[in-house]
Amino acid sequence: MENENLLAIAKEFGSPVYVYDSSKIISQYNRLSGAFKKVKRLKLNYAVKALSNLAILKLMNSLGAGLDTVSVQEVKLGLLAGVKPSNIIFTPNGVSLEEIEQVSAMGVQINIDNLSILEQFGTKHPKVPVCIRVNPHVMAGGNSNISVGHIDSKFGISIHQIPHILRIVENTGMNINGIHMHTGSDILDIEVFLYASEILFETAKNFENLDFIDFGSGFKVPYKPGDIETNIEEFGEKLTKRFNSFCKEYGKEITLGFEPGKFLVSESGYFLANVNVVKQTTSTVFAGIDSGFNHLIRPMFYNSHHEIINISNPEGKERFYSIVGYICETDTFATNRRISEIKEGDIIAFKNAGAYCFSMASNYNSRYRPAEVLWHNGEAHLIRKREVFEDLTKNQVDVDIFSKEAASVS
Ligand SMILES: *Cc1c(COP(=O)(O)O)cnc(C)c1O
Repeated sequence: MENENLLAIAKEFGSPVYVYDSSKIISQYNRLSGAFKKVKRLKLNYAVKALSNLAILKLMNSLGAGLDTVSVQEVKLGLLAGVKPSNIIFTPNGVSLEEIEQVSAMGVQINIDNLSILEQFGTKHPKVPVCIRVNPHVMAGGNSNISVGHIDSKFGISIHQIPHILRIVENTGMNINGIHMHTGSDILDIEVFLYASEILFETAKNFENLDFIDFGSGFKVPYKPGDIETNIEEFGEKLTKRFNSFCKEYGKEITLGFEPGKFLVSESGYFLANVNVVKQTTSTVFAGIDSGFNHLIRPMFYNSHHEIINISNPEGKERFYSIVGYICETDTFATNRRISEIKEGDIIAFKNAGAYCFSMASNYNSRYRPAEVLWHNGEAHLIRKREVFEDLTKNQVDVDIFSKEAASVS
């Protein structure tokens, strides 16, 4: 997208606003499926939690992607977007048996990640095929919050507990049709991933009726110039070779699955905000914007880096700025960044704002969540309205119990 497209969107729909460029999502999808074109049966399930707007889910559906979901609500969003239940996999962690049964009754593939639920589910529903999430205990992932495959992780059934799994399968007569792992986000080293894959292949040999092996996700995308990203093409070549030889060994053509979130949508997104105040102190120049970590929490939460550009003055002389939000506690998006000169009223754009940005937004400080716009074939489509005051109050119950001191809420 060009700066003028983004500026026009900020003008038309106001700020702050999230913008997603569909062509980037499509090219990422094609890049990943292209890297695995020599796999006969490939399935890419988009991880809904990264960005769950219905328009995005419809776009994924049109590309042929399935969905990876972590809550019954995400499943319902997928169905509402027209995705077939057979194209959805449910990979929750720590949810109740009831929720898993509810999703299973919709015809969605269930992926179970603990022995207790596996036994309970298998006993009650021995005919429903189930996928198992194993934990290969391989340390991957960009930081400790998003690294989920290590030994202390709450995710998956430890590979050291395969005998337990087999005992449950035998006792219940249930059918295991898939094996899954997800080692965490931001995988830098392909070899580490391939090593974890070997553990998955070893595990798979214990099960006779597999339809698929799901390798999870965690592909790293560049967040700033010079950033390392997962070399998808090299990875595709290496894993394809290994997977195809495994299928031969296994005696059956099974499906190779992934469930990318960040890889598909991160770079498609821009978050646009207006600069309210430029504040020069003795040591720093702050640019205060009409947003905060209520709308984009990643810098404060994960220490994530988002490139920031001043799209109102892209060619201006660069100066150093700290970009801060309006939340009444420390609320820093970036410290001492070189950005072309900022004036009050300028629109700045955060890059990589497609994944885990809007989907983590909240109403903290009683602010409205932003609008979302999809840029598709050269046109801007509003895909979520900015909230209004009623959104803050609609679920609140107005009690009239403080006789004298009752404040009127209007
Ligand atoms: C979050 C998640 C993903 C997506 O991870 P990305 O790093 O966004 O690609 C995939 N699978 C599972 C089970 C997840 O929890």
